[in-house]
Amino acid sequence: ENTSNQIAAGEVVENPASVVKELVENSIDAGSTNITVEIQKGGITFIKVIDNGCGMEEDDVLIAFERHATSKIRSSNDLEGILTLGFRGEALASIASVSVVELTTRTKDKPYGSYVRVKGGTVEEVREAGCPVGTTFVVRDLFFNTPARFKFLKKDSTEAGYISDILNRIALGNPHISFKLVNNKKTVVHTPGNKDLLSTIFSIYGRETAKECIKITYKDEMFEIEGYAGKPSIARSNRNWQSIYINGRYIKNKTITAAIDEAYKTSLMKNKFPFVVLNIKINPVLVDVNVHPTKMEVRFTNEQDVFRAVYYAINNALLSESL
Ligand code: ADP
Ligand code: MG
Repeated sequence: ENTSNQIAAGEVVENPASVVKELVENSIDAGSTNITVEIQKGGITFIKVIDNGCGMEEDDVLIAFERHATSKIRSSNDLEGILTLGFRGEALASIASVSVVELTTRTKDKPYGSYVRVKGGTVEEVREAGCPVGTTFVVRDLFFNTPARFKFLKKDSTEAGYISDILNRIALGNPHISFKLVNNKKTVVHTPGNKDLLSTIFSIYGRETAKECIKITYKDEMFEIEGYAGKPSIARSNRNWQSIYINGRYIKNKTITAAIDEAYKTSLMKNKFPFVVLNIKINPVLVDVNVHPTKMEVRFTNEQDVFRAVYYAINNALLSESL
């Protein structure tokens, strides 16, 4: 059983950043408004995720570490129209099979919470615990029992960079949640969580970027698109500058990047890529998010419609600015 969890972990847990991603997405699904991530040694020796979400019931804490345990799908019908970020019930089992995990959690209607420690997939301790409402995960010594994987980890600073990137992307997609990243005891990012995307952009990329952003608002029968389009003056030489979300989920999609390129075609030089943050709302039945376990790639029922909507959303914004 733990062997199959370790195999599944190979798909879900690639590095400390993928652990952070899964834990933070769980915190978002739990309705948190404040999420703090603390890391040491690039997350390899220590990751802590603290949230103020709904917490977990005493009876559910051990079940959560079992493979395919998810509280998020109740019937196969639910597989269509997925809105929560997690839905496979694989992340916790996978993470716990290749690290030492401590979970402390409490729901609002209980005076005490639960503490569990799992090492390499084996439950080592379970007890009641006094703690605030919400959930805290500590993940130590990633890949301690899978040396072949441990070997592939990069320098601490590189792994820390991946974590900061993924957390920034998640924060941009969730401006209603305040995110904090603390790397080796130093606060690196702290977003306001005030629902305002521009102030979230400000806290991540700084003033120079925020003041060169044009607001995007677009709506048709199928899509609602909001976000910011950077002026050509802040374009960069790579695409790391672009963050795209479908129904709150950070994704990568070639049709959408092609539409962005097309919209900037006349205003940008070759090999320059604009700063863009796009939140696309679409009826969930028209998107297939179940393509890969890490859930970054999506397929659309109608790629053409997506292309057109994104193109016009950005084009309208750029045109409004030149008036
Ligand atoms: P999934 O997110 O796909 O359901 P996970 O393995 O990531 O699967 O999590 C298993 C279950 O543990 C979740 O369905 C949820 O019930 C519970 N859970 C995990 N993290 C949290 C959290 N931060 N707050 C509340 N419940 C959580
Ligand atoms: Mg999950």
